[in-house]
Amino acid sequence: MSAELPTESPLSERDGRYLRHAIAMSRVARSRGNRPFGAVIVATDGAVLAEVWNSNVETGDCTAHAEVNAIRAVSPRYSREALASATLYSSAEPCVMCAGAIFWSNIGRVVFGIDAQRLRAFRGERPEQRDAELSCRDVFAASPHPIDCIGPALIEESSREHEGFWQR
Ligand SMILES: [Zn+2]
Repeated sequence: MSAELPTESPLSERDGRYLRHAIAMSRVARSRGNRPFGAVIVATDGAVLAEVWNSNVETGDCTAHAEVNAIRAVSPRYSREALASATLYSSAEPCVMCAGAIFWSNIGRVVFGIDAQRLRAFRGERPEQRDAELSCRDVFAASPHPIDCIGPALIEESSREHEGFWQR
């Protein structure tokens, strides 16, 4: 399996800074009892439009993934045109639901940390911890507007909050 793992993407200083911000949000998620995922949405001028974490446990909402929470925070406040030039940073590769939400938001660029394949090694085989195995890139490829996708990146840093978290 290891031969098939995606290779790490190099990041600019700016992308590295904001992806680390998203990883910091994954620590917040875990400290509040949720699954350790975080996301931030950043405008082209560097304004942070949302900084959020997964809130599955604290809200009881199975759709409260970090990326969906981020999009729900920005979508009522910013136009589709404004979001087209924004970047969503996620501590982990977006799942199929979040990839769909990114499509609907019109956000044009995604940078993620740990990839879904490496994450599956942490998730294990418990049914409630498994994900739907459809890549976000396959969802983005079906979009009529382009969605740039960079990742996996900062794999070691974005893996840390998953160590010892998932139930065996
Ligand atoms: Zn998701």
